[in-house]
Amino acid sequence: MFWKYFERRLRRPLVKYTDVFHNKAAVSMMTGKIKGKKMSKYQGGCSCGEVQYSFEGDSINSVFCYCKSCQVHTGSDKWFGLWVGKDKLTITQGNPSTYTRKGDSGQDINHLFCATCGTTVCVEVTVGNFYSVAVSSLHGDHQITPNMAIYTASAPVWAVFPEGVPKFDILPPGLDG
Ligand SMILES: [Zn+2]
Ligand SMILES: [Zn+2]
Repeated sequence: MFWKYFERRLRRPLVKYTDVFHNKAAVSMMTGKIKGKKMSKYQGGCSCGEVQYSFEGDSINSVFCYCKSCQVHTGSDKWFGLWVGKDKLTITQGNPSTYTRKGDSGQDINHLFCATCGTTVCVEVTVGNFYSVAVSSLHGDHQITPNMAIYTASAPVWAVFPEGVPKFDILPPGLDG
């Protein structure tokens, strides 16, 4: 029954931000429970290992972001972020440096990065009170796949888009980060 609901959601061209945040069923389905997996504690860190973090519980969203800032930052076509409530994530080792820029909302976006190796481990989106954790910095095996692709209008011509994942030119309506 949940599967059917989820499939319907995926086929819908627009996913509302409010749904993403307030529909508990939708949130849990996007976080791995849909596959019968129990959420566990996640750990991750930078390339040199100095900065380490952990979080547990349900994530809010998993997003490919093709905005220009993410391209420059990653040296790639996109940033793969797992959105985690700010209060759920803890820096367990090291003292990450911060780079602050303004998002489209005019609110601060704080990049937390290791001063030694330069890896950005997560980005605090203050307007949404969440961290966009770099999926690439997670330790161990995980089954995280993107739930949506955003800012695809800014993507380079060589960008690769995942099949079957909803694409949005900028942000889905209501998701004004
Ligand atoms: Zn490092
Ligand atoms: Zn971006």
